[in-house]
Amino acid sequence: MMRIAVLGSTGSIGVSTLDVLGRHPERFAVDVLAAASNDSRLLEQCLRHRPRVAVLQSSDAAARLERGLRAAGASTEVRMGAAALEECAASANVDAVMAAIVGAAGLPSTLAAARAGKRVLLANKESLVVAGPLLVEAARASGASLIPIDSEHNAIFQCLPPGHETGRPGGGVRRVLLTASGGPFLRTPAGDMARVTPEQACAHPRWIMGRKISVDSATLMNKGLELIEACLLFGMEPARVEVVVHPQSIVHSMVEYVDGSILAQLGNPDMRTPIAHALGWPERIASGVQSLDLVATARLDFEAPDLLRFPALGLARAAAEAGGTAPAALNAANEVAVAAFLDGRLGFLGIPRLIEAVLERHQNRAALALAAVLEADAWARDLAETMLAETAVAGA
Ligand code: NAD
Ligand code: MG
Repeated sequence: MMRIAVLGSTGSIGVSTLDVLGRHPERFAVDVLAAASNDSRLLEQCLRHRPRVAVLQSSDAAARLERGLRAAGASTEVRMGAAALEECAASANVDAVMAAIVGAAGLPSTLAAARAGKRVLLANKESLVVAGPLLVEAARASGASLIPIDSEHNAIFQCLPPGHETGRPGGGVRRVLLTASGGPFLRTPAGDMARVTPEQACAHPRWIMGRKISVDSATLMNKGLELIEACLLFGMEPARVEVVVHPQSIVHSMVEYVDGSILAQLGNPDMRTPIAHALGWPERIASGVQSLDLVATARLDFEAPDLLRFPALGLARAAAEAGGTAPAALNAANEVAVAAFLDGRLGFLGIPRLIEAVLERHQNRAALALAAVLEADAWARDLAETMLAETAVAGA
């Protein structure tokens, strides 16, 4: 029996994870469920999956969860705060951790799981962008396996040579082709992009996801974060990771070998496939995902990304090439910009402008110590907030 902690259980990835786990009660036990503040959804999840511990980040929400659990006669222990999250991620009662918190807030618990030698199912790409070398090194030192949940990276993981290690691509790999749906504004003329709303940005044509990653998909920053993620997870230089727009989202990414072979992983766009792959690995387990109907799909299109309409992708590639604390600063500025866009404080085109303005002032440093990346993260957040307050970067 594999005992699982699902961190971010009330979100899009968390809910899909519990769906897959619920299909295999003989194989998996849910030990921990954790979320920020959605106590009503967490209560439902606790009553269905009976975890040993449930963690929330709001004391009011934790008190309500406690009352709900006691009223239902459930024995789940309720805990509160970020330290509880880290403890649960490293707990001896847990074999695998689904890291599905959104944003850099997921870093401490992901790192704790990696240091403790767990199987880390890595959905929280921001933790890798912020502290990739540290996370990869922690996993190597403890023997933890980092299995990507991001559909593209999970596809690459599946297409790499058998037995490849985290941070090393394995023999014969020439490059990686990272596919991108292009997001909701793939065909939106440049002149109309200034006026797009959060609702339009969150209406992704292929995937149903949390609001932050949906906005990232609309700016193509998501693909930029994924480029950095691919370099770190698979030990590739940025020049060997090519982004290819593929609007159907059927080919989830590809690996090209030196002999000219390209291996691809295909499937319906449903996160339960990579989640089931990572949970069952190296075995295959059912996910509940429908068979792909290739005849109905009929065509698979590929095109180059438009870096003029989507400057965020270029900013991320530059941060990947710079290395050091640049990706942490990029990520922090992006988190502030996306939150401001979702709150109506910044226009859509203001997102890459704010990130660029922050990065122009960033002094890059080595990212070998956690303190250095946390400092870069805090510095970039502060500067981005200050610039927003001064409306130094008008969002149009
Ligand atoms: P979401 O917004 O739907 O869910 C986020 C979850 O994190 C919620 O359960 C929330 O309560 C929890 N959370 C947020 N802040 C927290 C904190 N400080 N402490 C504890 N819990 C906290 O997001 P999502 O779409 O499920 O994405 C989660 C992660 O997975 C992101 O890093 C995203 O980039 C990545 N990802 C998501 C998808 C997808 O299809 N949704 C695909 C690939 C990667
Ligand atoms: Mg992805």
